[in-house]
Amino acid sequence: MEVFLDSLLKSRYAAEKKTILALCEKGNTFSLADLARELGTSIPKITRIVGELEQAGVLSDWGKQESAAGRRPSLYGLNPGAGVFVGVEVGQKEIALAVTDFTGRIIQFQDGIAYTLTGTEESVLGLCACVKKQLRKYHLDPAPVRGVGVNLTGRVNYRTGYSYSYYISEEKPIRDILEEGFGWPVFIENDSRGMAFGEYMSGIAGDARTVLFLNVGWGLGMGMVLDGKLFAGKSGFSGEIGHFPLLDNHQICRCGKVGCLETGASGQALHRLIGEQLAKGHPSILSAAYAGGREITLNDILDAVEKEDVTAIECVEQVGSTLGRAVAGLINLFNPDVVVIGGRLCVTEQYLMPPLLGAVNRLSLNLVSNDTVIKVSRLGNKAGAVGASLLAKHRLLNR
Ligand SMILES: [Zn+2]
Repeated sequence: MEVFLDSLLKSRYAAEKKTILALCEKGNTFSLADLARELGTSIPKITRIVGELEQAGVLSDWGKQESAAGRRPSLYGLNPGAGVFVGVEVGQKEIALAVTDFTGRIIQFQDGIAYTLTGTEESVLGLCACVKKQLRKYHLDPAPVRGVGVNLTGRVNYRTGYSYSYYISEEKPIRDILEEGFGWPVFIENDSRGMAFGEYMSGIAGDARTVLFLNVGWGLGMGMVLDGKLFAGKSGFSGEIGHFPLLDNHQICRCGKVGCLETGASGQALHRLIGEQLAKGHPSILSAAYAGGREITLNDILDAVEKEDVTAIECVEQVGSTLGRAVAGLINLFNPDVVVIGGRLCVTEQYLMPPLLGAVNRLSLNLVSNDTVIKVSRLGNKAGAVGASLLAKHRLLNR
């Protein structure tokens, strides 16, 4: 399979071409003079390089600069028509799908597509078929798909293409099977890391270079952009904040250890806390279901919070306070520009954030925490699929 951009980026001025594409990656535009300055080279040389990128169809003339005085130069940016990228977020029983154009604009998003991925080759190929079926509904032609990003839960090594939650065999990483099924280049990543990248690229952090993203879903994960780079660690196993042994609550974690942060600050912690309250007979709109022996899901709890159920709100506040304790530690450790709180529990923002911010104020070093802004996810439920799509573009441009 001849990979898009490969020949272009192996031609003359390859390094300059890569730099220009990287500069334009967030949807920015530049005049020839800007680019010459950025790359420290001459205008005639930049004109030649930009001409080649334009001829290849990856860069386009976005028109004249609006507010400049005197002669107005043309601005160049990525060509939106140069292709599309597909992002897939694999959940427990469903997937979410996003399509972004070459500039990173979201052109399609769909969540709640029923599919259960298991660790077999047939199931992985079934996922490809399910995604392609959905893409056909969008009538994307003639815009070609340039790459697919797939977010998977758990430990993922994006370099080798292995996922340890969906382990197929020693010989065949899941990424290779996905490439066979799709027929396009595939880039896999851990879900929290993909989401972190989506938020970083969507501009929630402005020009910030160090961004921590907390994925507060059923579990608790973290994605880190450190000094402008998505950080994966040696083998892609970084960000396991959920299993930081921070709590003295004697709760056994799903990893088998005791007192992991996740047992107090996650969707499953919220689920446990509300179960304890209901068992004690605290009044709640969930009481009848609990008494009747019906299983109470995280969605039921989030619905109860939306309906202003006091018992459910108090449990969310407790989760917020515990999470804030961890955020205080992270701020002291990383001195980040921005901490983004994302994941499913974001919908309880109104009740989750005040105790979280209170704990950060109380427990972090003032000088350090005054340097950091804490924000709630901008992309919300789109963060995973959109992040995967933007990351596919990023990895393709930076191969
Ligand atoms: Zn654990």
